[in-house]
Amino acid sequence: MSRAGCPNAAPEGTLGLLAAILRRAPRLPRALCRDTPQLFDVPTGVRADIDQALTICRVCPEFGPCAEWARSQPRRSLSGVVAGRWYPTKNGGTQDDKP
Ligand code: SF4
Repeated sequence: MSRAGCPNAAPEGTLGLLAAILRRAPRLPRALCRDTPQLFDVPTGVRADIDQALTICRVCPEFGPCAEWARSQPRRSLSGVVAGRWYPTKNGGTQDDKP
């Protein structure tokens, strides 16, 4: 699995479907993050992308079910932007924080 952020940001295809099943991701057909998963993902976690992802979450029609799903997950399994929250990785913040 390449990401653990937005539940609907998994890549399309068989691997994406398997990743979603493994993390019990809900089906959120109106998720606004579907078209811009790179903004929600940790590896690309530059501050501007995170801020843009947080803004998108605030107007997402799937915010409620997404937040409910996020609350049901172990905290350590979340990373990146999910349901309007930033979940940093163990080593800290964004790429902008690196020297
Ligand atoms: S609330 Fe954010 S992370 Fe959740 S489905 Fe919508 S855009 Fe994606």
